[in-house]
Amino acid sequence: MPSAANIVERDAVVIGGGFGGCYLLHLLRKNGYSAILLEAAPRLGGVWATSCYPGARVDCELPYYGFSDPAIWSTWNWTERFPSYKELRDYFTHVDKVWGLSKDVLFNTRVNQVEREDTSNTWLISTADGQRFRSTWTLAATGTSFKPNVPDIKGMDRFTGQMHHSAAWPEEPVDLSGKRVAIIGAGSTGIQVMQESAKVASRVVQYIRTPNFAVPMRQRKITQDEIYHSKPHIPHVFNACKQSPSGLPLSRSTRKTFDDSEEERQRVWEENWRRGGFNFGLGSYADTIISKEANHAAYAFWRAKTKARITDPQKADILAPETAPYFLGTKRPSLEQDYFEMCDRPNVEIVNNPIAEFTETGIVTEDGKTKEFDIVAVCTGYDAVTGGLRTMGIKGRKGLDLGDKWKDGVSTFLGMTVAGYPNMFIVYGPQAPTSLTNGPPFIELQCEWILNVLNKQRDEKLATVEAKKEKEEAWREHTLDLASKTLSIQTDSWWNGANVKGKKREFLLYMGGMPVFLDAANKALEDWSGFGVKPVS
Ligand code: NAP
Repeated sequence: MPSAANIVERDAVVIGGGFGGCYLLHLLRKNGYSAILLEAAPRLGGVWATSCYPGARVDCELPYYGFSDPAIWSTWNWTERFPSYKELRDYFTHVDKVWGLSKDVLFNTRVNQVEREDTSNTWLISTADGQRFRSTWTLAATGTSFKPNVPDIKGMDRFTGQMHHSAAWPEEPVDLSGKRVAIIGAGSTGIQVMQESAKVASRVVQYIRTPNFAVPMRQRKITQDEIYHSKPHIPHVFNACKQSPSGLPLSRSTRKTFDDSEEERQRVWEENWRRGGFNFGLGSYADTIISKEANHAAYAFWRAKTKARITDPQKADILAPETAPYFLGTKRPSLEQDYFEMCDRPNVEIVNNPIAEFTETGIVTEDGKTKEFDIVAVCTGYDAVTGGLRTMGIKGRKGLDLGDKWKDGVSTFLGMTVAGYPNMFIVYGPQAPTSLTNGPPFIELQCEWILNVLNKQRDEKLATVEAKKEKEEAWREHTLDLASKTLSIQTDSWWNGANVKGKKREFLLYMGGMPVFLDAANKALEDWSGFGVKPVS
């Protein structure tokens, strides 16, 4: 155990080096706080620091999947409408250069304990390699996609070929050409891996439990002229993002599906379909995830479009079934480029029979059929939203572990603070709009709110700020109530923890949208009405 002299002291310890951690570190230093950022990966970038599976790219488009600081965007030129992980890694290198972050970052440093020391009113943070830090504030920016969800399939460890979870894909390129590839899962990741592997592998089998109602991405290269001409618009785009419920500068329709004639509906859907990205889901009708009839109508449009791209009737039955197995738009929509054409290729098989077990060389399904593989891509997602926080060893007042506190249900106030965990703040966590938004604009708003809290504390000489228990309970109720008015609660997904065995099923995200959320957060700061505060003794 290192002696007290070896404990590094800072005003704030920031955990995680994605959008949230980078922006927090930047803001803290600009405002005179000493801070250190601890990052488990060897580079900045959050999920992009580790995601390098074939085809990995973001589903939010440029220029608004990025920081709004002119120092960053005025000196950076994207090359694709939806950037790949490689370009995103380069982007973070650029951010690091402009803001000079790395000098206060420890890479390859995994936090494994965060303990509240009640006597000194400080946090003690320990890392897997034995380092210790003491701070007034702990700022957790570990994001939604930190802890992989690895399935427990019989015989998995016997498989002798290559097997990689998408979240731990090797940095060294895995050559798929001429190989027999299995893909387990059909979320955003499974779709991206399929699009790449079908083009080069000798044979691809995608094991699909539930089909993905993916919509066209409409990916394209962006010319440098186009970027140059769009620069004057960028501040306006970022402003529009921050004022929108989802952090996207899209025209959101307030019309309901059956307000329009059949002909007009087809025109609206067609137009948004052609625009690509999230336009179809968010720009068409306001009641798609509220009304079952509206949802069925939107699904019929989606199915007609999708079926037309698949010539094999058996594959079409699995990928675009007549009856939707869940409501369209009640999971995070995936964006695809040529996924359905790739599924349709003769070297691709789509299997919806459940996996029974692995053999040394392949996968057996419950119908007794065995298929042999060289490479298995496990695209089963994450213990999302809360997985990282629940398992990081965060112990608040009286040693209460956050994982234990949340065992029977998550409770936070505003998704950023937790009763019993004074001076700890969470970015991009549960019970906030988080993954219902384009991340960066929402993260900026949260980080700026946290900075306001710290500044207010400093100005008013307050040692601690802690969410009030009753406010936390009311926020939980409010979050669950908003979700209960939508069809999303009926669908099993990582939005409600149903994707992880044993995890409590409850809706984890705040559906009120960014402006309403921010308004509630700002009100709670007026006279500290949402918090208990203690003066510096
Ligand atoms: P995911 O959405 O959770 O999908 C996991 C897939 O694995 C689902 O098809 C699931 O089937 C299947 N699955 C899980 N456990 C299984 C098991 N034991 N046996 C067979 N199948 C199993 O995970 P993801 O695709 O990694 O995506 C997670 C999130 O990451 C996305 O929603 C998105 O926010 C983000 N992401 C974004 C991008 C992008 O920006 N373009 C790309 C990749 C990921 P069921 O549906 O039946 O449960």
